[in-house]
Amino acid sequence: MTDLPSYRFALEQVQPRVSPGGLAREASVAEFPVSTGLSGVSMWLKPGGLRELHWHTNAAEWGYVVAGACRTTIIHPDGRAALDDFGPGDVWYFPRGYGHSIQGIGGEECHFILVFDNGAFSENATFSLSDWLAHTPREVAAACLGVATETLDGLPDGEVYIALGPVPDPRPSPDVPLPVGSRSTTAEHHRYRLLAERPRSFPGGSIRTVSSVEFPISRTMAGAVIELEPGAIREMHWHPNADEWQYYLEGAARMTVFASRGQARTETFAPGDVGYVPMGFGHYIENTGPGPCKVLVAFNSGTYQEIELSEWLATNDDQLVSTALALPTDIVAGFRKTGGFIVRERR
Ligand code: MN
Ligand code: MN
Repeated sequence: MTDLPSYRFALEQVQPRVSPGGLAREASVAEFPVSTGLSGVSMWLKPGGLRELHWHTNAAEWGYVVAGACRTTIIHPDGRAALDDFGPGDVWYFPRGYGHSIQGIGGEECHFILVFDNGAFSENATFSLSDWLAHTPREVAAACLGVATETLDGLPDGEVYIALGPVPDPRPSPDVPLPVGSRSTTAEHHRYRLLAERPRSFPGGSIRTVSSVEFPISRTMAGAVIELEPGAIREMHWHPNADEWQYYLEGAARMTVFASRGQARTETFAPGDVGYVPMGFGHYIENTGPGPCKVLVAFNSGTYQEIELSEWLATNDDQLVSTALALPTDIVAGFRKTGGFIVRERR
């Protein structure tokens, strides 16, 4: 059956939203109908490019830096604040509703992927500082900011989105004090160095995972980077508790999604493509290219859960599996009992 919707979206083919300091491409449920539980954005910031101060009410934000470097600021509702620098392979998490900003630092453009735990989230409907002030009487804004009304004549007349300013100074040390308004720095760290983690390794590749266990503030989302060697398969599996949103970073892949009722769909993925697997749907990913295949995945639960086919069958006795599959017991006895997850294709 092929009346299933597509689980693939060519994100980097989308016309970007361009601002002075950078650009963004978005995949929400409006563009990618199956992705009801998660949405995503691919953003590029020039050095000094500032995704302006903003917040969003309908989703938390999970970020992964692909290339370059950036700096984020965030305020918590209790007045604590944080400023963190990020490089390739680093992850951030901003709870829903907390005010934050992202700025490109260093000498090259910064590329990162943002994932949100709500398919209806849109980058075009965030609460931006410039938009708010543009729709506030000048006298009110001046009173709140503690300055004379006429000093605000130069405020933008609408949402800036991504401004362009000077590249901020490198921080001389991690002990540099926060700006004067910060009551204290937050103890809840927003940065997790995912690629610095030692991966779980398998004969066909590796995975690095981050959930609220390793990264406590990331209460509603988890993520991983999966690397598949040529000919490797991320084993048939499902996630009982979360939808899965994928961004293909490198290589060539094919993913098949099993939707029950005799329905499955296979699609091919290239770098810049997004994949989506609804909660509980069976799936597997094959590396179909000559080189390594690298996939970023994010989940809309802070708890990472998975069930692998081979592991599941190995917890049932051979007679039961033999009955279920109408195969002789000695064949079932030869099924993989341990060491699945990322396997090599056998010909
Ligand atoms: Mn945001
Ligand atoms: Mn999966």
